[in-house]
Amino acid sequence: MAKVPVKIVSWEEIVEWSKGLAERIRGDGFQPDVVIAVSRGGFVPARLICDFLDVTNLLSIQSQHWVEAARMAEKAILRFPYRVDLSGMRAILVDDIVDTGDTLQLARDFVVREWRPSELKVAALQWISSVAKIRPDYYYLEVRDWTWFQYPWTRLEDTMQFIVRIFREDERARGRSLSEDEIAWLFREFYGVDPRQLGLYWGLALKRLVEKGILRLEDGRYYLAKAG
Ligand code: AMP
Repeated sequence: MAKVPVKIVSWEEIVEWSKGLAERIRGDGFQPDVVIAVSRGGFVPARLICDFLDVTNLLSIQSQHWVEAARMAEKAILRFPYRVDLSGMRAILVDDIVDTGDTLQLARDFVVREWRPSELKVAALQWISSVAKIRPDYYYLEVRDWTWFQYPWTRLEDTMQFIVRIFREDERARGRSLSEDEIAWLFREFYGVDPRQLGLYWGLALKRLVEKGILRLEDGRYYLAKAG
């Protein structure tokens, strides 16, 4: 059993899921005038929804988790709370996944209050029903067992974080040096994912971690150099 269950999502699946989501929206008779991507995760699905529903207006709002340094408490914040007038328009907010639902809830409340569309629906490719605080109006897949979905647009970022996490959390890696093969082996154990599935991202992630000074590479062995 993987310590952190991860599923690698392919571009083909993203297209299939976005098409399925668009069909649910259309099947419900909702034709939006404007699509709003919840940045950054909702960008690609929102663009595909525009294509499948023939919508030419695409906006975005950046809502994300933020770790408050002093209290170490995570809360959702809007990065750029700009205002636009959507009165008289039907809008749909699109995200990749509703996990806690905090970021989507914040974006939804802000858009309703400040952008004032005549109607606002919320859509996501996936909804983790066992943990989410909100249920989107439309979703394509309901997830019951929490999993990290490794979407194609965060492949590098995620792979880097996954590798660092092994060095920090696995007893066999903490405070030690590892060869690339040993990292790959632990990666398979930790995440249930074969690094070969990550294609070019695997080598790129290791290289970037060294460039950033997070890992050190000496004589073919990697060390955790600093907290990254
Ligand atoms: P949340 O506010 O917890 O619903 O999630 C905020 C954002 O974090 C989501 O829109 C995703 O981009 C990302 N995220 C959260 N949970 C997951 C997950 N289980 N798999 C992949 N991405 C996730």
